[in-house]
Amino acid sequence: MTVCLVPEVVLDQTGVHRDLAILIDPGEGIIDGVIGAVHAPGDAINLPRTALAPGFVNAHSHSFQRDLRGIVERVSHLAPEDDFWTWREAMYAAAGALDPDSIRDVALRCFAQMRRAGYTAVGEFHYVHHRPDGTPYERPNALAEAVCEAAEEAGLRIVLLLAAYERGGFGRPPDAGQRRFCDPSVGAYLDRLTALQEWAAGRPLVTVGAAPHSVRAVSEEWLARISEHCSDHDLVLHLHAGEQPREVGETLAATGLRPVALIERAGALTQRTTIVHGTHCDDAEIALLAARGATVCACPTTEANLGDGYVPARRLLGSGVPIAVGSDSNTIIDPLLEIRELEHVARRTAQRRNVLVATGDAGPAPYLLSCGWSSGAAALGLPAPVIETGAPADLIALDLDDPEIAGVADAHLAAAIALAGSAALVTRSWVAGR
Ligand SMILES: [Zn+2]
Repeated sequence: MTVCLVPEVVLDQTGVHRDLAILIDPGEGIIDGVIGAVHAPGDAINLPRTALAPGFVNAHSHSFQRDLRGIVERVSHLAPEDDFWTWREAMYAAAGALDPDSIRDVALRCFAQMRRAGYTAVGEFHYVHHRPDGTPYERPNALAEAVCEAAEEAGLRIVLLLAAYERGGFGRPPDAGQRRFCDPSVGAYLDRLTALQEWAAGRPLVTVGAAPHSVRAVSEEWLARISEHCSDHDLVLHLHAGEQPREVGETLAATGLRPVALIERAGALTQRTTIVHGTHCDDAEIALLAARGATVCACPTTEANLGDGYVPARRLLGSGVPIAVGSDSNTIIDPLLEIRELEHVARRTAQRRNVLVATGDAGPAPYLLSCGWSSGAAALGLPAPVIETGAPADLIALDLDDPEIAGVADAHLAAAIALAGSAALVTRSWVAGR
């Protein structure tokens, strides 16, 4: 049965619109029509003082890392020079303790917060696969399935990006903390990927993608095989790259190439590829990303928390490389904070205002919102988040009376939300019309 929503305004990629009603079909999960508010039926749901907008897309998450909150925010006598690599030891300890029940529990808490914050879809980069000693569960995808079921329970659309993990680093076997991430061969990994696709086939909120973890963790041979599989089966491919100077240095030392150039040599840099972080990409790597039509997923709050550096957003925009955003370690879950950080870092480095402006004189808001909407959806292989007939009914309601944006005129609403708003604006949401 169709449900009619009558908000005060509709806010989407095309701007702010009044006097519209949105018909959604929870059976099909889509927007069934956009009509004049005067034509809304008597049983329509009125949403006074509300802006209805597409939900945001979280293109990169590791949901279980949510439980590191607080724990990792103290100086250890073991790691006085705390950095990404010492944080990683704490993360491995958390990953080592997971089982099918506990991973479902933490994922559900994390996904429930995402939905409340205005995300309606998540790309979950999932790499904890097997028992702690590396032997498979009876169902080889038991943990990935548990994470997908948690998303279904939270009512969040999920693209389960199944990670491939081969080794501890260039020429190094996996260490104890990494054994449960690893498959014995690329063929075994691809079998699990296929099995997960078959499992997900009847689940409307679940799709699957491939995620060779990083050029540290998979060889060029694995990367090439996985990329070939993705092009044969129309799957997106995500991998971490350019996150840390040490990773760039190790890649150069082992292969003579920087990470993005190595990915390109393996044939894995295509339009379906998303490089997660890219904080340390140089100009040649950015040119390669642009030439191949790849996307960069920035995770600004996590990159700040880990001391990773920051994404070169201005150079990426200038080169035409799309930027998606992700909550990554889930220390903070707020799509508006992620997109705003892109502009704030660009301002701090350029020492001027309104830097990430794609076109026209509207300032950075349209571009920042497109990072959270269309670029995120494209990176995950999802339909564009638009308010049009036939689009997924993945919507959020924003409170126009919230102190963050109260009193802002329509002409400035998008900019106020992008530059001054937070997840606190979100009062309701719909995923697939529910
Ligand atoms: Zn990550």
